[in-house]
Amino acid sequence: MGLSVAEGAAPSGHARPQTAGPLAPALRDPAPRGLCKDCGVSRMADAKACGIACQFIAPDYEALEARVHGRARDPSRPDELHFGPFRRMLRARLSPPAPGAQWTGIATRLGALLLERGAVDAVLTVMPDPEDRWRAVPVIVTRPEDMAACRGMRMGYAPLLALLEPAAAAGHRRIALIGIPCQVYALRAIERRLSFESITVIGTPCSDNTTTENFHRFLALLSDAPETVTYLEFRADYRVELRFADGRVQEIPFLDLPISKLPPDFFPLTCRTCVDYTNVLADITVGYMGGSGEQWLLVRNARGEALLDALGEEVVLSEPASAGRRAAAVQGFIANTERAAGGLPLRRIPRWLRPLVSFLQPRLGPRGLEFARARVEMKAAETVLHLRSSLPARLKTMVPEHVWRLVAPYGLAPRPGERRRDRSPRGA
Ligand SMILES: Cc1cc2nc3c(=O)[nH]c(=O)nc-3n(C[C@H](O)[C@H](O)[C@H](O)COP(=O)(O)OP(=O)(O)OC[C@H]3O[C@@H](n4cnc5c(N)ncnc54)[C@H](O)[C@@H]3O)c2cc1C
Ligand code: SF4
Ligand code: SF4
Repeated sequence: MGLSVAEGAAPSGHARPQTAGPLAPALRDPAPRGLCKDCGVSRMADAKACGIACQFIAPDYEALEARVHGRARDPSRPDELHFGPFRRMLRARLSPPAPGAQWTGIATRLGALLLERGAVDAVLTVMPDPEDRWRAVPVIVTRPEDMAACRGMRMGYAPLLALLEPAAAAGHRRIALIGIPCQVYALRAIERRLSFESITVIGTPCSDNTTTENFHRFLALLSDAPETVTYLEFRADYRVELRFADGRVQEIPFLDLPISKLPPDFFPLTCRTCVDYTNVLADITVGYMGGSGEQWLLVRNARGEALLDALGEEVVLSEPASAGRRAAAVQGFIANTERAAGGLPLRRIPRWLRPLVSFLQPRLGPRGLEFARARVEMKAAETVLHLRSSLPARLKTMVPEHVWRLVAPYGLAPRPGERRRDRSPRGA
């Protein structure tokens, strides 16, 4: 099954009729932007829509959460301050796992199920570039069997939303989209302007993304044969898992990663200041970090419930677990980030101590939901610290109230002029 690229598709967004395989329409060039993850909006006919769509300008999570889920996150409900509005939170795995999936393949299986049942006409997602498995190519998928080719994680940015116009032009009325948080925010912000009958959103968490080029540099530091690495994941047990083309698997403790060899801007400022880790505007979030070694689902609304129901007996579900205490880990991360003054957190643990700490971390550190809470708080603190050092004027518009609440226990409070004045804190 190959990638069918509609070469020379008209910039007006008209895709050619699909003959076989996922369709990768030719897209316009992006419009020049400042903080931008090329989600695809600037490549649409109305490129100015970035003004309302962009999570890096003046996001309004509260209003969009209320519109999409019927209510904004409620800090008085367990874990909503951290993970956004949800009805149910579960550990989950497909049984058997789907080959080639990042975890067990729940995200792509949901897309395939929607197509199999005729619930959607097309799924908008990404698949690997035939020349570079780590590069994400946005594709329109209309055959359930083609979702298998989209499995796995790509490192880099894909203008996924630029597919909305070709999808509409091809006559697709009910679509699904599998996307990362910055794509999903922009989609939700503009969805009422679009003419689709329905849009189902399957979201994955996202953090620490970087350009595909940077990612290749990172792989080259991890392996003598970086071109043979087929899989990489930052696991919740504080290890990076690498898989190789010959079937070999390597695990590297986080503390042994060559972070100090990476340039300070290895992760672009956008990803260091991204305020949505858990994809709060998706109908269902499919991740792993609260799953204690399995996948982690956040069912956020009725559409998300229907998606989970559709998996039926293909999915094994259980209650998420939680153990350890996150406070010291988050405080240490914040201190390290402050010392790094806008760059990557420095590693301060002496080499001789690393094996011991690497042994203890997965046993005594925050685990399960506590690990996910820790990661969300770290990301919130990073947002504040990196904006303060790089773009202080943006704090007022880019940082939602819930981020300040997440970092408050660690002594990070808004300074004069840093907090939004247009809204009062919810549930304060
Ligand atoms: C850059 C990045 C960072 C992530 N960080 C975390 C994290 O910190 N914590 C966490 O719980 N989960 C994270 N995820 C999500 C996680 O990697 C899995 O995608 C998720 O758990 C679903 O697994 P699965 O087996 O169900 O996915 P699969 O069935 O294998 O499907 C994966 C889906 O993700 C899409 N996808 C892959 N790469 C990209 C990309 N670059 N941009 C847009 N879509 C893409 C694929 O097209 C596919 O539809 C991250 C994902 C990405 C892309
Ligand atoms: S909306 Fe998308 S394309 Fe526009 S500036 Fe933001 S990330 Fe870039
Ligand atoms: S970390 Fe945030 S900004 Fe960066 S790619 Fe992921 S969702 Fe987008």
